Amino acid sequence: MARLPDQPTVTIVGRPNVGKSTLFNRLVGRRRALVGDEPGITRDRIYGMAHWAGRDFRVVDTGGILPGAKEIIPSEIFRQARVALDQADVIVMVVDGRTELAAPDRDLARLLLRSGKPVFLAVNKIDVPALEAQAENYRQLGLKHLVPVSAEHGSGVAELLDQIMRALPPRHAAGEAEHAGETQGTSVAVAGDRRPTTDDAFADDQRPTARDEIKVAIIGRPNVGKSTLLNRLTGADRAVVSPVPGTTRDAVDEIVTRDGQVLRFIDTAGIRRKGRTELMAEKLSVVMARKHLQSADIALLMIDGSEGVTALDANIAGYAHQSGRSVVLVVNKWDLVQQRARELGERRLASRGAHTARRAKLRPADPQRYEQEARHSLKFLGYAPMVFVSASSGRNVEKIFELVKQVAAERRKRVSTGEMNRFLKHVDFDRAPAPFSKQVKIFYMTQASTSPPTFVIFTDRDVKLHFSYERFLENQVRRAFGFVGTPIRIINRAREEKPGQRGR
Ligand code: GDP
Ligand code: GDP
Repeated sequence: MARLPDQPTVTIVGRPNVGKSTLFNRLVGRRRALVGDEPGITRDRIYGMAHWAGRDFRVVDTGGILPGAKEIIPSEIFRQARVALDQADVIVMVVDGRTELAAPDRDLARLLLRSGKPVFLAVNKIDVPALEAQAENYRQLGLKHLVPVSAEHGSGVAELLDQIMRALPPRHAAGEAEHAGETQGTSVAVAGDRRPTTDDAFADDQRPTARDEIKVAIIGRPNVGKSTLLNRLTGADRAVVSPVPGTTRDAVDEIVTRDGQVLRFIDTAGIRRKGRTELMAEKLSVVMARKHLQSADIALLMIDGSEGVTALDANIAGYAHQSGRSVVLVVNKWDLVQQRARELGERRLASRGAHTARRAKLRPADPQRYEQEARHSLKFLGYAPMVFVSASSGRNVEKIFELVKQVAAERRKRVSTGEMNRFLKHVDFDRAPAPFSKQVKIFYMTQASTSPPTFVIFTDRDVKLHFSYERFLENQVRRAFGFVGTPIRIINRAREEKPGQRGR
């Protein structure tokens, strides 16, 4: 049967009892199109529709001709392979990670590889992380994309799906309608920039060419709500929720288009990945933040509002600042902060006179006061706008899109040298604090580059600018031109350089 042109098809193959139908059920839930697995009845294949990362796709379980048969027979291998070759855009071969690799597995893998289609190996029944090492045995099959999963418990399935999405034909080639997500965005997973592309030929043509895309990293310590926010922002109706740590090292990004603006969320598999112990998770969150910042234009730095700014938050914020990326501070779990304020009011009502209590009860959590306190611990991020959200309820999450757009524009903004020097004339440099030995006279100033905005001041002296002088100048620039969200760099160049001083 030729595959229908409108939806991409993912075909599941494998020996009997490896867990194909368990995986199928997990992918499609109750949305089966055809069920034919009554005992004794020949079951050729089962179709179902699945949805992941904003895309609908068809899943085919090739099943088994002889239900309950313990061994796969050669004709069955060929039948499965043929179904896969005829219909599949992507093939998922399932093996049982708890059993030895068997000859039929090798035969099937070989046939599938010859098809030239993307093949993923789901090593199933890896119910606990300790079994992951065992899954590695199946590398012998020569399939590059191996994902340990537990079809029964759901772990690893999200990673498998993320990888499958990358290998699907582009949406328009597949003739699908755009799917409007919860946030009116559309999302699709694609290969991350940092993937070794030689190992990943079929992902290359999936990469969007949009030069104007904004790369967004969601960073923060464990449990601040990064995954929850990501799900909100990508608007994906998750068919499968994986409650267990992910397994693959592969970076997967998700693209969201909103109002014509393309946002790329970096390494979404990484964002969802959790450490196994608290300490591991904390270390991982710092490693991830640093890695994600490298590829990002903008970082959404998340804080758990109910806990306030912790030392680890400040540590991650420090990396964000140093990276030169723009930052939006996202204070999450604002619902909890408000709930707590309400409870406090109620307690006051119970313990004090009705008059004071009524006033106290009416006082909601005050974002302004909260912001003041939070900023005190994150002084160096004074340029980062702060937004108060509840990722789990979706409250205020829309604002993040607006801020990202605004911050991205500010980051790319260029001020002409004419404007810059008109501005300079109005700055009262007598107010600039700097020790005498570090005082400079500015002849003129120009914006040398954007992302982040970098300014060169041409002065009479080749000295490193005193930090308070630099800060003064930065504040003046911001007051005149904004540059919200982005750090600013200022470089001093002595106008009359002596020979040999260039490039200092
Ligand atoms: P199929 O014949 O390949 O479609 O395999 P089934 O989906 O019928 O599963 C075969 C058996 O393996 C069933 O008893 C399932 O409950 C079991 N099974 C499937 N997935 C898992 C898993 O992730 N872990 C464990 N422990 N058992 C599984
Ligand atoms: P991550 O480790 O940063 O990815 O955090 P998760 O997204 O896994 O969230 C950690 C926990 O916080 C989960 O139990 C979420 O349900 C919960 N959570 C996330 N956002 C909110 C929120 O806005 N309000 C409340 N009350 N809980 C939230």
